[in-house]
Amino acid sequence: MSDAELVLRSTRVITPEGTRPASVAVAGGTITAVLPHDAEVPAGARLEDVGDHVVLPGLVDTHVHVNDPGRTEWEGFWTATRAAAAGGITTLVDMPLNSLPPTTTVDNLRVKQQVAADKAHIDVGFWGGALPDNVKDLRPLHEAGVFGFKAFLSPSGVDEFPHLDQDQLARSMAEIAAFDGLLIVHAEDPHHLAAAPQHGGPRYADFLASRPRDAEDTAIAGLIAQAKRLHARVHVLHLSSSDALPLIAEARAEGVRLTVETCPHYLTLTAEEVPDGASEFKCCPPIREAANQDLLWQALADGTIDCVVTDHSPSTADLKTDDFATAWGGISGLQLSLAAVWTEARGRGHGLEDVVRWMSTRTAELVGLRHKGAIEAGRDADFAVVAPEETFTVDPAALQHRNRVTAYAGRTLYGVVKSTWLRGQRIVADGTFTEPKGRLLTRPS
Ligand SMILES: [Zn+2]
Repeated sequence: MSDAELVLRSTRVITPEGTRPASVAVAGGTITAVLPHDAEVPAGARLEDVGDHVVLPGLVDTHVHVNDPGRTEWEGFWTATRAAAAGGITTLVDMPLNSLPPTTTVDNLRVKQQVAADKAHIDVGFWGGALPDNVKDLRPLHEAGVFGFKAFLSPSGVDEFPHLDQDQLARSMAEIAAFDGLLIVHAEDPHHLAAAPQHGGPRYADFLASRPRDAEDTAIAGLIAQAKRLHARVHVLHLSSSDALPLIAEARAEGVRLTVETCPHYLTLTAEEVPDGASEFKCCPPIREAANQDLLWQALADGTIDCVVTDHSPSTADLKTDDFATAWGGISGLQLSLAAVWTEARGRGHGLEDVVRWMSTRTAELVGLRHKGAIEAGRDADFAVVAPEETFTVDPAALQHRNRVTAYAGRTLYGVVKSTWLRGQRIVADGTFTEPKGRLLTRPS
């Protein structure tokens, strides 16, 4: 490590081989070696010894709605990336909708990249969107570097991002499969949603009944059938229904190219505890019952679910009314995702290594970021330094999100992020941020 500029030392470094005492050597923003804890620090290198705090690879969150430009009063690149950094996330991939314009043409992608460029405190990539009328834009977007394409099978919540019917889905999927791209899908079947009782109002039980599990199960079954036929790569976004797990496991066993994510809110909050009128808990598909949640955890443990991402999708507070039917659907959790998942994971007997696998290694793999997601030589020197045994109580006023509405208010969580590092530079420590140092990422070819 003679050329090292920085040596980050801890008694607990999470590496692909497990957690161990180590000194991580960094040069030019890249990890050059993972050495023994007592390795000699070369002349000219700076030693940062974080003691017993855990050093883990910076998290890679592949499901974030930044909403910038166009709905920046909901969130923006400046605030989202600061919140992410404060939560130990060093890379995010922005969803194509809720910003104006949506990321559905190369021109629109350029607009978004321009807006993000000087505001990104962490690395930022972009998903494209698959709409009923933009099949011709998919390949150019792929070539321009989006990581894949998002589609909805039921209304998205915003008019400018219409959903695909089954024929349109088949057309988009075939086009994306032709260049071996990745299609990521919000899977709720519109006919099952339409057939469900739609009472509206403040009762959470009514809202839950309006977004039944079989809407997800049916949509996922249809996706699997199409993915199999077209030999396409398909990713199920924000899985909530545990009833779909056997279908997913079976498809994967058959070799269907299917991956699946779930979110912190499905893993840590339950329908039973959502107060009536509390639409900060509203998202689609919805937070379901505790028994459903136990099965999601089982599926994470056995690998049926690949990864955990926030689906951070905030709005201004006034849109979070007490009517679950009309309130904005989306949960704000970017800064809290690591602590929320770790708190529940440790209670269920999982290690922090598992959380790293779900929230960094596998998400980096999903989007092909081979230089992210692990602490080993050759990868980016992106780290979160975490005190996993320390707790804090969530105070919305302390969040960096533009709108401080959160379903986690008042919860006591394990896992305090002490500092976050991007390519060898500390970008936040104890609530103090540097100027933005993030880069805009494109899909590696
Ligand atoms: Zn989303």
